[in-house]
Amino acid sequence: MTGRATKIVATLGPASSNPAILEQMIRAGVNVVRLNFSHGTAQDHIDRATMVREAAARAGSVVAIMADLQGPKIRVGKFAEGKVMLVAGAKFALDAARTELGDVNAVGLDYKDLPDEVKSGDVLLLNDGLIVLTVDSVKGKAVYTTVKIGGELSNNKGINKQGGGLTAPALTAKDMDDIKTAMSFQADYIAVSFPKSGSDMDLARQLGNVAGAPFGHKPHLIAKIERAEAIPKLEEIILASDSIMVARGDLAVEVGNAAVPALQKRMITLARKHDKTVITATQMMESMITNPVPTRAEVSDVANAVLDGTDAVMLSAETAAGKYPLETVIEMANICKAAESAEDTKLDADFTGMTFQRIDHAIAMGALFTAHHLDAKAIVAMTESGSTALWMSRHRIHIPIYAVTAQVATQRKLCLYRNVQPLLMEMNNDRDTALAATESELKKRGIFQTGDVYAITGGEPMGAPGGTNMLKICRVS
Ligand code: PGA
Ligand code: MN
Repeated sequence: MTGRATKIVATLGPASSNPAILEQMIRAGVNVVRLNFSHGTAQDHIDRATMVREAAARAGSVVAIMADLQGPKIRVGKFAEGKVMLVAGAKFALDAARTELGDVNAVGLDYKDLPDEVKSGDVLLLNDGLIVLTVDSVKGKAVYTTVKIGGELSNNKGINKQGGGLTAPALTAKDMDDIKTAMSFQADYIAVSFPKSGSDMDLARQLGNVAGAPFGHKPHLIAKIERAEAIPKLEEIILASDSIMVARGDLAVEVGNAAVPALQKRMITLARKHDKTVITATQMMESMITNPVPTRAEVSDVANAVLDGTDAVMLSAETAAGKYPLETVIEMANICKAAESAEDTKLDADFTGMTFQRIDHAIAMGALFTAHHLDAKAIVAMTESGSTALWMSRHRIHIPIYAVTAQVATQRKLCLYRNVQPLLMEMNNDRDTALAATESELKKRGIFQTGDVYAITGGEPMGAPGGTNMLKICRVS
């Protein structure tokens, strides 16, 4: 037991696609492994998923797998020399009709619709905002620009338009194929890049459910909030998703860096309010790609995301391509723990003013309230779907929630939930036998000692999803 509530998502890449390193990273606290479908073949992802499941088993742990779809490629084409140096003040054209390789005057476009979607005066940001171009004019299929901030531009770098407005659909033909690949290994989560609306998420869910059906699997969906257009639609996107990602990389390019910290807080609060989970992502420990220790600012960034109430913090290039993948996970876990211990966890007015209609929801909140007042050692939720654990985990409380389930898919999904420790156990249909078995398992794992008080929830009859109707306060015998 790590004693850490905030979860860690780590991206797999060349630096971590090694069974021994991955096993160590999981032992150090990785809860969710992210497979980035922007790189590699279908077979690479299938092999990596197998490696993840095997490494988790060796570590005696469980991790969820997130398949992160590439999404629309709004990118420039390739250059004759692989790259060019753009200088401030120079003229540069982005030409959808260009067939020859790019040079210092012009380059082709992977994204052919760009000329139809920009006008004179627009600001284009290339390579994650490092290069800034202003649009002078659009003629035919070519966008003529002046370089405002120069730099090195290499093959297939991304293009963002300041303020948003590029229409590329969120799910490409490649994404649809990748969903099928991800379902072949029953990825627990699918992350959708650049969704603009709830219907983008509905479509992804439909595709995921259809592709998962032959395996009896339903993936959970993460909306990556990284487009300016997604902000006014935040609530609708959250409602159509199981989880959101504060995808600060692309989001910052579209809305400007300065707007992102406040948006992060708003997204985290809103996701929790709607009983959804949330991941804070990108550049959290960026300097550890090359350095063995993080900067003070990075430490603060991770700690503040924890204090904002994020379920998980994410590592991208730090674990995919960095020099110190294991050290980064260890550092991040320590920062999370320290921040959690400083967190104010009173059940506040929001909690006591809550209303709920469902019996299972009422039981979950009753368990939280009672456990808090009794200063219980733990809350145990016997759950098929994971809903009771999700509801409980939306409130700030220092008491750990153990979600006991007989469903492997539920156990893995719960890996992302803040303050929830998922345990897989055969569930006996007889209530008293199930309660006794759960207590003795937690005792065996060293979580419970004789005399500890805990709250446990479950449903009678046992084993039916959505049936939680019982709360019991027990003392460990
Ligand atoms: P990416 O998404 O790493 O796939 O671009 C996250 C982000 O944009 O922050
Ligand atoms: Mn992104």
